[in-house]
Amino acid sequence: MTRQILLATRNAKKLDELRRILAPQVDVEVIGLDQVSPFDEVPETGATFAENALIKAVEGVEHTGLITVADDSGLAVEALNQMPGVLSARWSGKAKDDEKNLRLVLEQVADVPDERLGAAFICAAALATPDGVRHVEEGRMAGRLIREPRGSNGFGYDPIFVPDGYELTSAEMESADKDAISHRGRALRALLPHLLAVLDHRT
Ligand code: IMP
Repeated sequence: MTRQILLATRNAKKLDELRRILAPQVDVEVIGLDQVSPFDEVPETGATFAENALIKAVEGVEHTGLITVADDSGLAVEALNQMPGVLSARWSGKAKDDEKNLRLVLEQVADVPDERLGAAFICAAALATPDGVRHVEEGRMAGRLIREPRGSNGFGYDPIFVPDGYELTSAEMESADKDAISHRGRALRALLPHLLAVLDHRT
């Protein structure tokens, strides 16, 4: 029987990304929060991406008994003291409005000179198992902000972010190209050996 692991998210793009990374390596079915019995999700109150990712992974394993992977990510802007950081999703308020969040960041850097528009997307990916394994890996994609949004792929701050070594924003890149260099791709690939080790251990 194919084993199941939980990715503690409702985001279909994140599910697909983890499935693409795992598929060549191991025969497991990755299911999301929409495919398990609903439970009250605790607020993301951690001070770091790693803390938040671990909160979500531990919550997932405690409610489902499945090996669980969770991620937490955001944008860190040098000129804003690494903010919005863990507040990226709700930077302009509770509504989680991508367009408003992006506009607010652009207003906040309006007077910042171009050479100080360095930024990075950061992702922490956490693994939690019923046997008590806890592990977190971090991935980064460095780049810089631009002042006018460009592109319609991706989500969040992608239209104002140009990865280092590229001219396109991450909203203008093909998703496979973004996956290859993205903070989330890097964090998940770094977590992969740890996940494979616990899966091996349980066969
Ligand atoms: P979460 O990890 O799903 O909680 O995402 C946090 C927030 O960070 C998102 O709502 C986006 O605003 C931002 N973010 C994280 N990863 C990306 C990305 O790859 N592109 C654009 N924005 C991102």
